Amino acid sequence: MTHRVLIAAEIKNLLDPAQLADLDITWLPADEPTPKGDWVALVPLLSRWVGGTELKNLPNLRSVANVAVGYNNIDLVAAEMRKVLVTNTPGVLTEATADLTWALILATTRRLIEGVELVRSGQWTGWHPEQLLGVELHGRTLGLFGAGRIGQAVGRRALPFGLRVLYTARTPKPDFERETGARRVDTSQLLFESDIVSLHVPSSPETKGIINGETLARMKRGAILINTSRGDLIREEALAMALELGHLGGAGLDVYTDEPAIHPRLLAAPRTVLLPHIGSATEETRRQMVAIAVSNVQAVLSGNPPLTPVYA
Ligand code: NAP
Repeated sequence: MTHRVLIAAEIKNLLDPAQLADLDITWLPADEPTPKGDWVALVPLLSRWVGGTELKNLPNLRSVANVAVGYNNIDLVAAEMRKVLVTNTPGVLTEATADLTWALILATTRRLIEGVELVRSGQWTGWHPEQLLGVELHGRTLGLFGAGRIGQAVGRRALPFGLRVLYTARTPKPDFERETGARRVDTSQLLFESDIVSLHVPSSPETKGIINGETLARMKRGAILINTSRGDLIREEALAMALELGHLGGAGLDVYTDEPAIHPRLLAAPRTVLLPHIGSATEETRRQMVAIAVSNVQAVLSGNPPLTPVYA
């Protein structure tokens, strides 16, 4: 029996055709609205909102398999009410995203983009003892706001750089503490003591806007903020102001509140490294993400439990 499924058109080239047996696929481009119809599964990109209206328009839907670990684009309560199983792609993107977080840490602390722009502009006049002085990592403190899979992977990479690691999480992480010497603190202490604050909590009603004028003011003068989690954790205008005033020493961002739009003041702010949401963008990881998403659909459609479910 073939099943009618809606799959994001943009993942077509990453999928293994052998995985698609028994699926009658409608490819859905990201710029097209979610259609009405009798599809039984949906594999959306994280940019597609799947809420009550979309679910109502797909009355036969049994599974939404997000191609991301974050699932803030899906109304979980509405899905649960309609008995639609929601899945994500945890784990396979942890190392790639941790690597990119480190790319941002190094690019901001050592002012890589300014250096590249100087060389490209033809304005570089040679070595100068005070040129593009950055922040030395050795002996400084990295604060992980959230220490789940990705936060911990970022923390493990901090050891060879000689950083002290602090973290916040709802539950203690004894293995991580043993492995890295990291210490669990509350949000105030994390903001107050960290030279680099890196965000790794999911976007949720509790975490939205957690970095705002008030919390930014509690960060050390000259500290650096990194965000590879979700854009709406940060109030972008407040961050732009903190950069303009020189209170923050820099910001390295991969994600934004209203992608692909970026707050104009943040775009113009000094000492930023702004990336186009490429945290998990390696060939291996993206192939594994789409493979897990389709495996989740196949499991649900054959009456088995999904591999990586998420619940409201
Ligand atoms: P995870 O393993 O679930 O870790 C989330 C962490 O956040 C945990 O430490 C958790 O605490 C903490 N947390 C959750 N809700 C919280 C709350 N309300 N208040 C305080 N802490 C809270 O997730 P992950 O795999 O590391 O992924 C983290 C996020 O990264 C994802 O949600 C996604 O949005 C983002 N991401 C972005 C990219 C990108 O392309 N830039 C790629 C991958 C992932 P406990 O451990 O105590 O539960």
